[in-house]
Amino acid sequence: MRALSLYQPWASAMARGLKQAETRPWRPSAALIGYRIALAATAKMMSPGWGALAEGPLRDDLREVGFSVQKVGVKLFHDLPLGCVVATGVLTDIVPTCNVRLGEEVRVDPEPHALGKVLYVTEREHRWGNYETGRFAWLFEDVVPVDPPAWARGKQGWWEWEPVCASGHPLWIGEGPPEEGWCDGGCV
Ligand SMILES: [Zn+2]
Repeated sequence: MRALSLYQPWASAMARGLKQAETRPWRPSAALIGYRIALAATAKMMSPGWGALAEGPLRDDLREVGFSVQKVGVKLFHDLPLGCVVATGVLTDIVPTCNVRLGEEVRVDPEPHALGKVLYVTEREHRWGNYETGRFAWLFEDVVPVDPPAWARGKQGWWEWEPVCASGHPLWIGEGPPEEGWCDGGCV
């Protein structure tokens, strides 16, 4: 499965439903639209500057979904998972940030606008992204948490994630009972 690494707390925000759109300065290949993608948390936090997010509405959002983030002096204390796949989700659309508008819910309006389709985002979605001009919102739907998070060594850009159970069998994360040759993690 193709995998993408996100810094925390954005990875867990995606896994816990605080956000559906990942904003990046580049557009992924349109061939990936419709595919389920593994969403991983990087092994390291972004920078000490992240501490600024430990206050205000982002911190409150995280508390709402069960994470504790606290800044004490220059140190950041948190219980966010690092270096693991936290969710999978289907990449359903890519919309340039100049076509993003605030709305009541997160949805794409495919009506032919002069400048292409429009992505409506809620205020919460908006504060969890970087919607400066020249960027792209990658919309994920049907996001399913990988719980507990699965350890994975990520990379920049796209990488391949091959999920395994605790015994090293290929791990079934699809719908329904595992197909032959796959393990649902119940072997241990
Ligand atoms: Zn197994």
